[in-house]
Amino acid sequence: NTFAEIDLGDALNANIRRCKYVKPTPVQRHAIPISIAGRDLMACAQTGSGKTAAFCFPIISGIMREEYLQRPRGARTVYPLALILAPTRELSSQIHDEAKKFSYQTGVKVVVAYGGAPINQQLRELDRGVDILVATPGRLVDLLERARVSLQMIRYLALDEADRMLDMGFEPQIRKIVEQMDMPPPGMRQTMLFSATFPKEIQRLASDFLSNYIFLAV
Ligand code: AMP
Repeated sequence: NTFAEIDLGDALNANIRRCKYVKPTPVQRHAIPISIAGRDLMACAQTGSGKTAAFCFPIISGIMREEYLQRPRGARTVYPLALILAPTRELSSQIHDEAKKFSYQTGVKVVVAYGGAPINQQLRELDRGVDILVATPGRLVDLLERARVSLQMIRYLALDEADRMLDMGFEPQIRKIVEQMDMPPPGMRQTMLFSATFPKEIQRLASDFLSNYIFLAV
């Protein structure tokens, strides 16, 4: 039971070796095959469980495998294929750092956009193209309102620390964001929800955003 036995694509497997990950952690061991099989997932995972790789690997692998030649490219609007939402600037930039390591030489481009920092640098980064956007909810709503980002092509959605996002009052922004993703044909979008706790509010999010999902508690 090692990463070498899971075919995530040569470039990603090489990056995993470079990161010196040999054995999947429990959440990775279960979540990665479920995601690769195309199923939605709600996972109970704490910080330190290896959850970042658990949602990054299937996303990067999936984007590497498919060619999205028809992706529109507006003058000012970018169309990411994957969105990772996280509650804070710190967590989103941490996810961005890890996702960049994992996507080295895969051709998959990762950009981060968080609040509390000037938007111009982030806009310039986005203009160079983005496959995976890591964002905090408030800053993403801003980018959507400026029509600098479109979620029409999103194939993978990951919500990290969903309980913390709700505690911080981001539920309206999250709902607004997910509403903009209803364009892809049903079944085209895969959603992964990670949360340390499962109060009613999180269960409601799961039933609203996920379809026929697998619940994973490790
Ligand atoms: P996370 O829970 O995603 O924040 O990951 C916690 C820490 O564990 C990070 O420093 C990761 O780089 C590391 N890590 C994640 N998965 C593995 C693995 N399979 N083997 C070794 N280290 C890992």
